[in-house]
Amino acid sequence: MPLSKISPLRGFLSATVILVALGIYVVANAIQLGADYRLVTRTHEVLRHLDRIETLKHEAVAESRGYLLAGRGEARDRFWRVSGELHREAALLLDLVADNAPQRTRSQKLLEALDRRLALSADAIRTFRPGQAATINASAARVSAIRAGDVDVARRLDQLRQAERVLLALRSQRAERSAWLVLLATGIGIPLSLLLIGQAHRRLARENRVRQQAEAAASASNAELNATVAQLARLSDSMGALSHYSSMLQGASDAQELYEITSTTFRRLFPGLAGMLYVIRASRDHAELIAHWGSPVAPNDPSPEPHACWSVRRHAPYVIDDLRQGMRCPHIGRPAGAEAVHGVCIPLSAHGEVVGWLSLQGEGRGHIADESLAVRLCEQLSLALANVRLRESLRHQAVRDALTGLFNRRYLEESLAREIARCQRRQQPLAVLMMDVDHFKAFNDRHGHAQGDAALAAFARMVREMCRPEDIACRYGGEEFTLILPETDLATALERAEDIRAGAALLRIGDAGGALLRITVSIGVALMPDHGDVGLELMRAGDRALYRAKHEGRDRVAVAAGASAIGAI
Ligand code: GH3
Ligand code: MG
Ligand code: MG
Repeated sequence: MPLSKISPLRGFLSATVILVALGIYVVANAIQLGADYRLVTRTHEVLRHLDRIETLKHEAVAESRGYLLAGRGEARDRFWRVSGELHREAALLLDLVADNAPQRTRSQKLLEALDRRLALSADAIRTFRPGQAATINASAARVSAIRAGDVDVARRLDQLRQAERVLLALRSQRAERSAWLVLLATGIGIPLSLLLIGQAHRRLARENRVRQQAEAAASASNAELNATVAQLARLSDSMGALSHYSSMLQGASDAQELYEITSTTFRRLFPGLAGMLYVIRASRDHAELIAHWGSPVAPNDPSPEPHACWSVRRHAPYVIDDLRQGMRCPHIGRPAGAEAVHGVCIPLSAHGEVVGWLSLQGEGRGHIADESLAVRLCEQLSLALANVRLRESLRHQAVRDALTGLFNRRYLEESLAREIARCQRRQQPLAVLMMDVDHFKAFNDRHGHAQGDAALAAFARMVREMCRPEDIACRYGGEEFTLILPETDLATALERAEDIRAGAALLRIGDAGGALLRITVSIGVALMPDHGDVGLELMRAGDRALYRAKHEGRDRVAVAAGASAIGAI
């Protein structure tokens, strides 16, 4: 298996085994080397002893010869001393080779040969008589024995030396070999273990890197998952908010309720943002700021042009990340503070028509968070606004007269009964004015029907302008009108009737030719409770008074007969 494929654990284990084995081997070799060294040292010692023995033997022989030749007693004494020393050396030699049986045997044999040789010399010394010629003492047999003894000693010494040298060579060779082997083992073992450790370390570092990358990838995907979960939660919240808003809008009965629901919803869903809701008037001549919430950070025009918003012009949300710079919508003024203000305007369009826009503003630069939710809320608002407008228009059509914009007869009958009941509850009077344009047939005949229509519209406008909010002005039919004045006494009613009459006389109805046409009206006044407390009854009384006004010459006010108040007029 290639080294790079070995696992880090296996690599470290192998390196450890190699190093331990190497250590044991080196220690064992060191012990062996120590033993070999001691043996080599002893061999050298043995050789030194052999040399010493040989020297001493020569010294002893020389001393004995010296004595036998010169008869000097000192030479004889030295012979005895050297012989003694030789014996001691021989005993030491025996000790040194005690563990080597062949050498011990050889040493003993050497000792015996020495003994024999020295015994010959000792004999010669003992038998020597001073003055006697040395040659007398030296018989031929003794001479040959001495020579044989010398040869024997020399041979045995050589044998011992030879054997020790062989041993020395063997031990040196072994020591050398084991030193080489140690060198070889360490030379291979240590680099191999270092290689294994290096490889294991590299593998470990690579595995670490891979693990760290895997961990980083895992944590990144975890973060991604968390973000997705948070996004889903936000989406679910948004969907919930959207559906709640939508159901609330559907339940709204009029536009005002729509504005209140919108303001509450945006305040809750976009807490840091101020909001302005603009609705373009039906006349489409201007838009109106009809609801706002939060604290606007930039000034806002309450009655801008319908096209004062870029979102209306572009039919798409218009985002601006800093209202102090860039193309601000003309309905937004420059923010007063030094801080950046960001904003978005979202058009409100339904059935292809822009009906207004919603403007959101917040402190700081950037985009509003959850802009898409705001857009979807605005879509719902647009639809609801269009529905409410449609409903209001239908209701308007149902209760209003198309030419004059006044309430129609049906509405008059319904509301008269309701107003009578209300005034009765409060014990308040109620006046009914029945009005009829004088000689209107002739007017039509003279100026045409269109001018007749213009005259009716002008009269109706004047009546409406003179009305209080609680008054109900109706077109009863044709050129006849009715005005209900709740909580109004007879004197006030007469005053109002007179104002209308005078106002009608002053109306100037223009025509294409530039001639100014005039009309007059006759008015009959009836009062609840004086002339009745039922609608029809009151209207009839008013009609009778009107008839009287006509009869008396038109362009005048008459009060219904039969009431106590009448006497007062
Ligand atoms: P009097 O002073 O007695 O009320 O006379 P008069 O001509 O006004 O009364 P009359 O009832 O004879 O005529 C009413 C006229 O009002 C008849 C009709 O042509 C006209 N008229 C009714 N409705 C309209 C309308 O919607 N437009 C126009 N231009 N004329 C109308
Ligand atoms: Mg009439
Ligand atoms: Mg008339």
